[in-house]
Amino acid sequence: MSNLDTHPTLSTCGGRAGVPGEPVRELLKSRDVQLGESTMVRRLLPSLGRRMIGAWCFVDHYGPDDIAAEPGMQVPPHPHLGLQTVSWLREGEVRHRDSLGSLATVRPGELGLMTSGRAISHSEESPVEHPPLLHGAQLWVALPDAHRAVDPHFEHHVELPVVTGGGLSATVIMGTLDGAASPGTAYTPLVGADLTLAAGADVRPPLEPDFEYAVMSMSGEAEVDGVPLTRGGLLYLGCSRSDLHIRSANGADLLLLGGEPFAEEIVMWWNFVARTGDEIVAARAQWETGTAFGAVHGYAGERLHAPTLPATPLRARGRVR
Ligand code: MN
Repeated sequence: MSNLDTHPTLSTCGGRAGVPGEPVRELLKSRDVQLGESTMVRRLLPSLGRRMIGAWCFVDHYGPDDIAAEPGMQVPPHPHLGLQTVSWLREGEVRHRDSLGSLATVRPGELGLMTSGRAISHSEESPVEHPPLLHGAQLWVALPDAHRAVDPHFEHHVELPVVTGGGLSATVIMGTLDGAASPGTAYTPLVGADLTLAAGADVRPPLEPDFEYAVMSMSGEAEVDGVPLTRGGLLYLGCSRSDLHIRSANGADLLLLGGEPFAEEIVMWWNFVARTGDEIVAARAQWETGTAFGAVHGYAGERLHAPTLPATPLRARGRVR
C-alpha cells in the first residue's frame, strides 16, 4: 500500500534515546486517513506519541469493509526505497504486481512480503471478482543500513507457523515467536504475529526482554497487561518483558509487533525510508523522471505521482519519537 498523503511531512525516527528500558503501557490512538477514492484506513504508526517499534515504522489497519458492490482497494503503481512492505489479510484478497514482474494474489493467513531494497515499484488492488469483505493491515519494516541497498525481491508465503495453546492461536508473520520462525526474510531481530484469542482466553505468550513491543486490535476487545484494548488503539509496551498477560472475555484478533530497538536514525517521506533529505529529493526525482524504480505492467490505470516536497529543507531536525 502507499502513503497517499498529498502533503506528507518529513518524519525523523529511530535511535535508542526514546526507547524506555522498562515495561510501559502507552495507549496510542489511530487517526483516520483516506487512501485513494474508496478506502479509509486507521493509521497507527507513525503516531504523535511514537514513530517506531523495533524496525516497524508504518502500520495501517483497514476494514472490515463491505466492498461487494465497490472496486475495493485500488492503489496505483508507486515506488518504495529502504523498506519492506508486509501485507496481512483477515478477509478478502489483494493482487500485487511489481516492477520485477511479480504477480500474486495474497489471501487471509498468507504473507505478502516485498523487500524494496534500493528501488522497486508496485501496485495493489482488489481483483475485479473479489470476496465481499476486505480487512487487513499494511505494515512497513525499515531496512538497516547494511541491507537497505539489497536487490529488490518479493516473497509470497502461503504457509506460516502457528503456535497454539490456552485459547491462543498465534500465526508468526515475521520473525520469531515462542521458537516458531516465519519463512519471511527479515534483516533485523523482530516479530510480527497475529494473535487470535478464543472467548475466555487467558494467556502469557513469551517475549524477548531485549525487544520493544506493541499490540493492536484488528477486531474484538482484550485486556493486555491489564489495559483494555479495542480497535483503533495501539498499546506500546516498552522493553524488559519476558511474557505478556493477555485476556479476552469474548474473543479478539490482535497483532503483536516487536523488535530490537532500531539504533539508526532514519528519514521517512512519502513511500521512502532514507538517511538524509538529499536521498529523499533524489529518489523523488528518479520516480518522477522514470529513471529508477522500474515499471509495473498490467495495472489498469496511471501510476501515482510523488507529492510536492515540503518548502522547508528536508533536514533531520533532531530526534523525535
Ligand atoms: Mn506500497
